[in-house]
Amino acid sequence: MAYKTIIIGTGPAGLTSAIYLARANMEPLVIEGWQPGGQLTTTTEVENFPGFPDGILGSELMSNMRKQAQRFGATFKTGSVKSVDFSNRPYTLDVEGLGQLQAESIIISTGASAKYLGIPGEQDNIGRGVSTCATCDGFFFRGKKIIVVGGGDSAMEEAVFLTRFASEVRLVHRREELRASKIMQDRARQNDKIVWSLNRTPLEVAATGMGLQGLKVRNNETGEEELLETDGLFVTIGHTPNTGFLGGQVDTDEQGYIVVKPGTTETNIPGVFACGDVQDRQYRQAITAAGSGCMAALDCERFLESLAHEAVHA
Ligand code: NAP
Repeated sequence: MAYKTIIIGTGPAGLTSAIYLARANMEPLVIEGWQPGGQLTTTTEVENFPGFPDGILGSELMSNMRKQAQRFGATFKTGSVKSVDFSNRPYTLDVEGLGQLQAESIIISTGASAKYLGIPGEQDNIGRGVSTCATCDGFFFRGKKIIVVGGGDSAMEEAVFLTRFASEVRLVHRREELRASKIMQDRARQNDKIVWSLNRTPLEVAATGMGLQGLKVRNNETGEEELLETDGLFVTIGHTPNTGFLGGQVDTDEQGYIVVKPGTTETNIPGVFACGDVQDRQYRQAITAAGSGCMAALDCERFLESLAHEAVHA
């Protein structure tokens, strides 16, 4: 049996499209990956999602959206989509844990994953001092020294959050200017547990096997190498869209973001829609993801109605 629609991914984009499609009686199946709820579940408080004047925990916001989708009849299954076949409709998904599933339409809302620096010693020490998730791992560094790498809003947010645990948080950024918004920069600058190493390019993670020694960096002013001692290293340098499983069947840009027809969520394949961070290199906010999830649901509904219309008049 082919589903009317399958939604891949359960961040704010996927869950919003699930709420809309379920409410429109389209009985969506939502495939939840191994990190249900997406990136918001690895953040702390969300202060800028409209409707929550006192803020809301990211995990709570996502759990509320999930309940809302379930209330209207969305079904959730856990699995990881390994490959797709979009050559004929109904489209086929090969899902680890669930086997082959078919649907008349697909909404891709698989989000983006944290980027790594790609320097020696980094991958070997993931879970042994190197992390991309302060909320998940900050607790392990109580009373210890931490380095946060990055100059964007995420780096500022993570650095401030980690001062709850660490004795010192050192912010390492490759340029003098920060990319972060002024309000986030100000918060970090006002926190006296945060020390700054700007103009430093990370070169290597130094570790003993028992833990981290430090981060080797190049001082871009003097050209000299320095070892910045630390117990923990949090890499917060942005994200890569999760589009590898599409095997090139959906058009993407050079960085892997899905290309949608401007002003819509339509991809190059009729009946395949994309929403959220997987197609957004510019805004990447929970609220914009949710907004595009709503657009995908409406685009998808229109597509399914056109199929029903064709069937009646065939
Ligand atoms: P981002 O804005 O893309 O910043 C990434 C940072 O990492 C940049 O400073 C970049 O340096 C640095 N970087 C990238 N590759 C690097 C490398 N190989 N080595 C060293 N440094 C590297 O990413 P983000 O901070 O994750 O933010 C993403 C989006 O989410 C933004 O739109 C942001 O506003 C939003 N966000 C908002 C909030 C909030 O408002 N509460 C919180 C988090 C994120 P350069 O500057 O030199 O390129």
